[in-house]
Amino acid sequence: MDKLAIDGGPRIRTKPFPAWPIYDELEERLILEVVRSGKWGGTGRVKLPELEEKFAAIHDAKHAVSITNGTVAITIALQAAGVQPGDEVIMPPYTFIATASSALLFGAIPVFVDVEPDTLLLDPEKVEAAITSKTKAIIAVHIAGSPANLTRLKAIANQHGLRLIEDSAQAVGARWNGVGVGAQGDLGTFSFQSSKNINAGEGGMILTNDRELADHAWSLANVGRIREGGWYQHETIGWNLRMTELQAAILLGQLSRLDGQMELRERNAKLLTELMDDIPGARTLPRDPQATRHALHLFMFRIDPELADRVNKNDVIRKLNAEGIPVSYGYVSLNQNKAVIKETKKWTGEERVYSCPNSERACDKEILWLHQNVLLASEADMHDIAAGVRKVLASFR
Ligand SMILES: *Cc1c(COP(=O)(O)O)cnc(C)c1O
Repeated sequence: MDKLAIDGGPRIRTKPFPAWPIYDELEERLILEVVRSGKWGGTGRVKLPELEEKFAAIHDAKHAVSITNGTVAITIALQAAGVQPGDEVIMPPYTFIATASSALLFGAIPVFVDVEPDTLLLDPEKVEAAITSKTKAIIAVHIAGSPANLTRLKAIANQHGLRLIEDSAQAVGARWNGVGVGAQGDLGTFSFQSSKNINAGEGGMILTNDRELADHAWSLANVGRIREGGWYQHETIGWNLRMTELQAAILLGQLSRLDGQMELRERNAKLLTELMDDIPGARTLPRDPQATRHALHLFMFRIDPELADRVNKNDVIRKLNAEGIPVSYGYVSLNQNKAVIKETKKWTGEERVYSCPNSERACDKEILWLHQNVLLASEADMHDIAAGVRKVLASFR
């Protein structure tokens, strides 16, 4: 690896940051238990019900339905909520493509409403103007692990008879007004894909406080069966979208570290925020006091607007990486994603264009990401990151 920094001197940072995933003998023991039990799936599952119960309790939810991954979790949540092909689903464009593709999978149509410029979360004040007679649901995305304004979004959804789905893929353990995310809307979905804060390689979960929605989601993910029905009794069309006992075993191990890791990330994020706020050209994101617990899947910060207009975001990233600071570019705004536009046209026959300047500017010019594992490093490591950002941004002035 190149050992030279941007000025040809030593790099600010040469040590690696903590690797991901983190695991120990606990995961090994739990997996071995499953292997030796011979119960890897099918009937009489043990670890999956335990996982569902724990996961629901962590998020103050009544019901949990485990599912193959976070993408189909959204699809099934939308279908359980009654969303049909052709129905419109309001969502923010600053998110992973799965928020939109999960709807497009069955012909539900994403409608993009811009994010707030400072928080990058769906702007409740802009949602109402996007509601049409075809709108059936709103997806709030808790991006980076930061809860969206569930109070406002719930009020708007209720007022217009819409379902509220929480895409909580990045927000395991997050809280809004002291209550877990996921079941504050009608349904919430989570991902256990390998980059996520709780990781089984792949996997997903749906939470809800509504027994009927839970049963419907369960049925859709279990080939149309009903919970107390026979194995070959299929009441509706559903699919096999189940996780395995092996995944549940790993997740039970991972969950045992959730609180400790969340506290460490929170501590380091607080320090990093203080350090960054002191750096000319850098800005951190504000946090709503109602977001009582941030899951910090990402630490996002921005190049301040004046500097961002003069520099190329890729040049900043290249220099930071050269200093050993592992920032990344992040998303392309989904309203500008050609595949999403094309697939939407396939279902609607129209080329739908949405203007979302806040999301576009964040993607193209301002926002930089550090991943959650970086926040599991030491206090001294946060000082290294800040020193790297200070040096690189100063080089553009
Ligand atoms: C990861 C992610 C998903 C999709 O989850 P998978 O398990 O990868 O299918 C959906 N939405 C958001 C915001 C995500 O970050």
